Amino acid sequence: MERLVDRLAREQTLPAEELRHLLNDLDSETQAYLHRAACKVARAHFGREIYIRGLIEIGNICRNDCRYCGIRRSNRCVERYRLSPETILSCCEEGYRLGLRTFVLQGGEDPAFDDRTLTALLGEIRRRWPECAVTLSLGERPETSYRALFEAGARRYLLRHETIDTAHYRLLHPEEMSLEHRLECLRALKRIGFQTGTGIMVGSPEQTVDHIVKDLLFMREFRPQMIGIGPFIPQHDTPFGTEPAGSAERTLVLISILRLMHPAALIPSTTALATLSEEGRTRGILAGANVVMPNLSPPAERAKYALYEGKAASGAEAAEGVELLRRQLEGIGYRISPSRGDYGERP
Ligand code: SAM
Repeated sequence: MERLVDRLAREQTLPAEELRHLLNDLDSETQAYLHRAACKVARAHFGREIYIRGLIEIGNICRNDCRYCGIRRSNRCVERYRLSPETILSCCEEGYRLGLRTFVLQGGEDPAFDDRTLTALLGEIRRRWPECAVTLSLGERPETSYRALFEAGARRYLLRHETIDTAHYRLLHPEEMSLEHRLECLRALKRIGFQTGTGIMVGSPEQTVDHIVKDLLFMREFRPQMIGIGPFIPQHDTPFGTEPAGSAERTLVLISILRLMHPAALIPSTTALATLSEEGRTRGILAGANVVMPNLSPPAERAKYALYEGKAASGAEAAEGVELLRRQLEGIGYRISPSRGDYGERP
């Protein structure tokens, strides 16, 4: 098994059969070996510096009805909100004061966040904080819209493909959504020049090892600059509300495999991982992740961005969140990088 890990580290890929073997038959010793190998690769690229991004959840109004997601359109139990451009700018201001140099604007697919509103907002962010990067995570939009957002200054875009298996995609999403369209969006983002992020939920309902292997090979071919992967966690007002959560261990294994397959990729240790286990965030780093995203959203709105049960969002002020993160990272011998952390950059 360890030889398989060595080969993955050397060749940055493995045939499907061997990836399946790695996922199915990993004992705890080999798992520790895999994490050490991935961590070594991450350190060779990024040293002991972790990039931080300020996450601003700009609204939970969504026209989509993804079966796993707590802010899906047909969830009547969630109180909806949309941050005003002024509020978003004050979140950025607070983040800037705390040393953050990337802002991630994430939200549901809300038609009110049209190109005019977003390009004006991006223009203002660029004017006030020219050295900062903006990442968007606002779902599927027409290519013309992505282009307008890029021209207005956004440089990174996160859009998980969720699963590369068509039937599984169908199960997770409503009729009107399609895997083909999601892939078209991802290809458009890359074509435009965005640093593009994709990824999956680990342990989503009916996900199999074969699905995950296909996802790994798809990502290997697509070559995203960012890879977002976190465990599926049920939310009680969704159709998958009684499904079991994905496994933190498997998520960590996948972070390590992905690090070996994509040595320079920006891989966050996600909030969902931190939600499942107290040490989730630091364990993600020790498995090869190199990005964390403290929450900059106004504390009063955080509980409403309830994608899943018990989402880690203490309601703490952003400053407390960043301070806690600094201490957690120092505790494992890492520090927060002061740079904006673009793909291809080395601290
Ligand atoms: N609307 C944008 C989109 O679809 O990309 C951004 C917001 S969406 C809520 C962000 C991510 O949250 C999704 O890509 C999905 O993987 C994750 N997510 C949603 N529901 C989840 C759940 N129940 N457990 C874990 N992750 C979830």
